[in-house]
Formats: sequence, structure tokens, C-alpha cells
Amino acid sequence: MNMPFAASEALRQQDLDHHLHPFTDHRQLAAEGGPRIITHGEGVWLWDTQGRKLLDGMAGLWCVNVGYGRHELGRVAQRQINRLPYYNTFFQTSHEPVIELSAKLTGLLPEGLEHVFFANSGSEANDTALRLVRHYWQALGQPERRVIVSRRHAYHGSTIAAASLGGMSSMHDIPGVPIPDVVHVGAPYAWESGKAMEQEHFAEVAARWVEEAILAAGPERVAAFIGEPVMGAGGVIVPPAGYWQRVQDICRRYDILLICDEVVCGFGRTGNWFGAQTFDIRPDIVTMAKGLSSGYQPISAVAVGERVVAPLLERPGRFPHGFTYSGHPVAAAVALENLNIIEREGLVEHVHDTVGPALATGLGRLADHALVGEVRTLGAMAAVELNPENMPGTRDLPSGTLATRVRNLCFEHGLVTRAVRDGLVFAPPLVITTDEIATLVDILSSCLDEVAAQVAEPAHA
Ligand code: PMP
Repeated sequence: MNMPFAASEALRQQDLDHHLHPFTDHRQLAAEGGPRIITHGEGVWLWDTQGRKLLDGMAGLWCVNVGYGRHELGRVAQRQINRLPYYNTFFQTSHEPVIELSAKLTGLLPEGLEHVFFANSGSEANDTALRLVRHYWQALGQPERRVIVSRRHAYHGSTIAAASLGGMSSMHDIPGVPIPDVVHVGAPYAWESGKAMEQEHFAEVAARWVEEAILAAGPERVAAFIGEPVMGAGGVIVPPAGYWQRVQDICRRYDILLICDEVVCGFGRTGNWFGAQTFDIRPDIVTMAKGLSSGYQPISAVAVGERVVAPLLERPGRFPHGFTYSGHPVAAAVALENLNIIEREGLVEHVHDTVGPALATGLGRLADHALVGEVRTLGAMAAVELNPENMPGTRDLPSGTLATRVRNLCFEHGLVTRAVRDGLVFAPPLVITTDEIATLVDILSSCLDEVAAQVAEPAHA
């Protein structure tokens, strides 16, 4: 399925001429000759216009949980398009796919989350959660409860509100962001700030940062705490044992709503249907996207627990919020079939019993590599944290250089990974086999060796 070279180059040029990419330095893109153009995928594998085969260690953007090439999802989409391609869910109307998906989801979610609102992206789901908690407190006669506590390194999306909820400084580098009344506390990121501590103690310290922020804002002004069970885009930051229990206790103590952003962790990624189950969290609100449809259709959802839903169900008046495509029938039908595939093929168990242990062992073997500082894994997510301090040739490199170099080399050798600060992160499709994990680890290992050899040479020092 190779595309002739001239046709591929023409496409690349058209892209450069007309397409604005997300999160991209376009001058750099042009200097590098334009984008790599992906043509098709099967399982964990992708192919580009030059016929190069890549192991997708990132499941696209943490989303293609059931892997590429699922023709059954195509068939479901086609059937739904032919039957009812669109109808809205405003104005006292509904349709089968959205009803069935709502019921299916509430059966999979942690207990107590019986109602679901739909949107199109993780960002919209988090915007919705923000509007919902403020609407909730207003309905209860406490409109001053507006403050949301979040964490540094968090990623909650790219709209003005979702970027404000996130805790990455680069996402705040636009005037007017963050919006007022969002407070960011330290992340439970031991490699950054808890290396010297017992993990149990670090859990206590990191949870205390949440409590201190609540006290500083005034508990009567705090509406909610939002957190990814495991921070994904922030670098696969797996919290120490006990952290989430403490944070949950703190939220209860001050009567603050707890929002779990399950956009990455949901749908099997951590070895349970939801990260909240892995960490035994009982959230008031759960936001989801990505694995909900495995990226085959844009769809996201917000599950709302009894407490927050009560005013919506019992009081007169309406929640003034919604999107043209809330509960889109084609997206809902595809999401439903995607959930059936995850269930039918036992993919959550596969992550729990096979992928998680194989990634932990395989990548764990690299922990002694000269360039590696720490390896973190949980289920089908992993981070290999490089340590530039380990080698004289890397100590003075600007932050991120080393990981970017390894990342680029991995691409050359057929593995898609992502560089986050000085680390590399992985979140492959959940269908990955142990042989494919071995291939992933082999490619990464040889790329680490190659970069270590380069930086050991004085010319690169
Ligand atoms: N929350 C988390 C945890 C995410 O990782 C992302 C996307 N990477 C989002 C929200 C935003 O999702 P979207 O890009 O679909 O708006």
C-alpha cells in the first residue's frame, strides 16, 4: 500500500500549505519537510505513506484502546448513518443509541453514578463538569463556592476552561488563562519532589498540599477537586499508595465535590474499567472520552452521582448547557459497540493479568540503564524517566533534549512514543500482546543504547 513518492510529497506540501496542526511549531514542521502521513492501521500497528510500519506505543493519543482495523465498528457506524445519522437530545427527544449507551455506562462505572451527560471531547466533558459543579452549588444557595482545586502537571483539555483546570504552565501561556478561581497544588510526583521520602509519607505530604489549598481559599469557597487517577499527559504520574484515600477524606471533611478525570484512565487502561476502581475512589463526577469509543468517533461523557444530580432531577429549572452533538447517534452507537468489544474480548482482564505485568517486567529491566532514572507502570500505561544527571555528556542539556532525541530515534526504528520533560511515556492499545510488548521494549532499549553511545562521545558532550 505504498504511495508513490511524488504523490506522498505532494500531500505533505499541501499539508504545509493549508493545515494548521494542534500543538505544533509550524516553522519546525516545515524545516523538517512536513508531517509523516499515516495511511492505515491494524491492531497496534500503523503504516505511513512510505510503507513504514510503526508500533503505536501511544494508542494514537491514549485512545485507540481496542486497536486499529475494527471493521465491526465501521459496520455499526454505517448502519446508524443509514438509519438516523443525526438527531439532537434537546427539547424532550432522545434516540436508541444514546439511551442504550447511558444505561451501559452506568453499569460499568463505580457505584452511585447513574446519570450521564454527553459531549464531544475530553475538554468539553471537563468544561461541563466545571459548569455543573458551579450550577450545583448555586442551586444549593452557595454560589460563592466557585474555586476548583487542581494539580500542577494535570491535563484536562484545551478550551479556555479546561486549559485553566490543567496545571501545565505551557498551557497557561495565553493571556486570560487560567481563568479565576482555579488553584493548582503540587502533584503526587515522587520523582520530582518526593524522592527522598518513604512513599507512605509522601502520600501524606502530597495530600496535605490539597488540604492547605482548601484552607487558603476558605473551604466555604471551594466547589470541587479535580484529578486524573493517574496523570497521563503530565508524564504518567502514578500516585503513591494512600494518596487518593487521603484526598478523598479531605474532600469529604470540607464537603467538596470530587471529580475524576478518567479521559485517559477510563475503559481498561489501569487494569480496571476505571481508574477510580483501581484506587478505590468514590467520585461525585467522572469525565470520560478517548477509550469510550476507542477514538473511532469523537464522543465524551460526564457521569454524575446522586448528590450532584439530585437538584437537576428534583428542582424546577434547567441546566443551561449542551452541545449540538451531545449524544450524537453515530458516535453513541460506535461507543456502545466499542464497549461490547472490550467486554467480549476481556480486554480489561487482559490489561490486568497480562499487559500490566509484561510492561512492568519488560520496561523494569531498563531501570538500570545508564540513561534511565526511574520506570513507572500501571496497567497499560508507563513512563521511563530519563536522568540526565547520570551521564557527564547529558548534564548540561536543556530539559527535554534527551527524551526528544530518544523519542525521534524510536520513530526511526518503528516505535511511537512520546517525550514528556525528560521522560518517555507509553499507553499502547489494550490489545497489545506480550510479543509486541517485547518488541516495544527491544526498540526502546536499543534506542537508549544508541543515544547513550552518542552522548558518551566528547563531540556530543
Ligand atoms: N483530560 C485528560 C486526562 C486528557 O488526557 C485529555 C486529552 N489528552 C483531555 C482531558 C482532553 O481531551 P480532548 O483532547 O478530547 O479535549
